Amino acid sequence: MPMKNTRKSEDLFARAGRVIPGGVNSPVRAFASVGLTPRFIARGEGCRIWDEDGNEYIDYVCSWGPLILGHRHPSVEAAVRDALGRGSTFGASTRGEVELAEKIVQALPGVDMVRLVNSGTEATMSALRLARAFTGRSKIVKFAGCYHGHHDSLLIKAGSGALTFGAPSSPGVPIEVARNTLTAGYNDLASLEEVLSAEAGSDAGLGSGPKAGLGSGPKAGSDVAAVIVEPVAGNMGLVLPEPGFLQGVRRVCDMYGALLIFDEVITGFRLGYGGAQAYYDVVPDLTCLGKTIGGGLPVGAYGGRQDIMSMISPSGPVYQAGTLSGNPLAVAAGLATLEEVAQEGFYEDLEKKTGVLAEGWRQAAENAGAPICLNQMGSLMTSFFVPEGTLRVTDFETAGSADTQRYAEFFKYMLEQGVYLPPSQFEALFVSAAHDEKSVQRTIEAAQHAFWRLGQD
Ligand SMILES: *Cc1c(COP(=O)(O)O)cnc(C)c1O
Repeated sequence: MPMKNTRKSEDLFARAGRVIPGGVNSPVRAFASVGLTPRFIARGEGCRIWDEDGNEYIDYVCSWGPLILGHRHPSVEAAVRDALGRGSTFGASTRGEVELAEKIVQALPGVDMVRLVNSGTEATMSALRLARAFTGRSKIVKFAGCYHGHHDSLLIKAGSGALTFGAPSSPGVPIEVARNTLTAGYNDLASLEEVLSAEAGSDAGLGSGPKAGLGSGPKAGSDVAAVIVEPVAGNMGLVLPEPGFLQGVRRVCDMYGALLIFDEVITGFRLGYGGAQAYYDVVPDLTCLGKTIGGGLPVGAYGGRQDIMSMISPSGPVYQAGTLSGNPLAVAAGLATLEEVAQEGFYEDLEKKTGVLAEGWRQAAENAGAPICLNQMGSLMTSFFVPEGTLRVTDFETAGSADTQRYAEFFKYMLEQGVYLPPSQFEALFVSAAHDEKSVQRTIEAAQHAFWRLGQD
């Protein structure tokens, strides 16, 4: 397979590098961890994209999740055009916002009320402020390898781009802020209990007594306001929760009076209509959303229990606002997307298709004698290039053991064959409703060839 012409992408990347840091507006797009020139995408249609040089690819990034229906889905496009014809933004309330909020509240067991924002980062940032205000506590617990956006409090052991670039946190995050974020191990309930009990213990040791916070449970000495988790982790590659893990996190939160925040920015309306919380039957106090609910336009949201959400301004004292929040175009795209995914059998079809891809992929690796661990759930999948003998990838450590150099080579062989995978070992692959059987089969054949080439290296 000849390497395709990439001259126009190369020229654009050179120009971009002079005026945009690293030439990109989000780090993973730079292809740094796969050592190639990033392709500049000119257009997309269904499950396909075309770069500026006219090369065609089957797209498994799908904008990192929002495009669960693929590129240019007719009803999403029609809804956005229609909204545009009425005005792009007013900074005032519109009917669409109410309809989208109603749909979200109806779908998610843990959401009585919801506030729309513009990104997933904004959603988690605002949820933390709210949790701190509600409990009167200041600390947050997150899990290593979970990514919740790029604001200070959560850019600690944050997977994804941070993991790819070997910087678990970032310069510029004040130590005073970082100190308030504690980390536990994903799928390691004991480590969570340890963190929370140490917190409660050290507090009691200082003789400060129980806080006057509303979460005064049996161990109210804790200063932990909330535990935030990706119920299914998608930012260290795909890592599934072990049976009982999420239930355990819920139980430990209750024990220490900490709020449980599910970051469902990826899983919301992707694992199923009720997200991970319905799938696992674990109800969080607060939920963060993004990606799919915007149908490809910039949206985020945070929602939860009514008593907590009522603290948000103007009904309560916790301030949070946004010039473009609830933007009519984004809301229209989101509404149209949610209508499509609500159709009977939508998620079953998507899961079945992804299952076929996963099975073919696994077989291809096995045929070539390549030791991989393949994690798949719903329409999400990651193939980890783990060391021989690794049986499962279940957390930050096992994910981190993957050979990024081998992934980079595999990625290149796939790209040459017209398959556009996430340009990082630590990002999940996204399948959309627009991926047809033929494209899935072509992808499996390409994987077969790529694994074979890897074996020749
Ligand atoms: C993508 C993502 C975010 C951040 O969303 P942005 O819209 O990129 O700010 C937060 N949490 C999770 C789980 C994500 O996957």
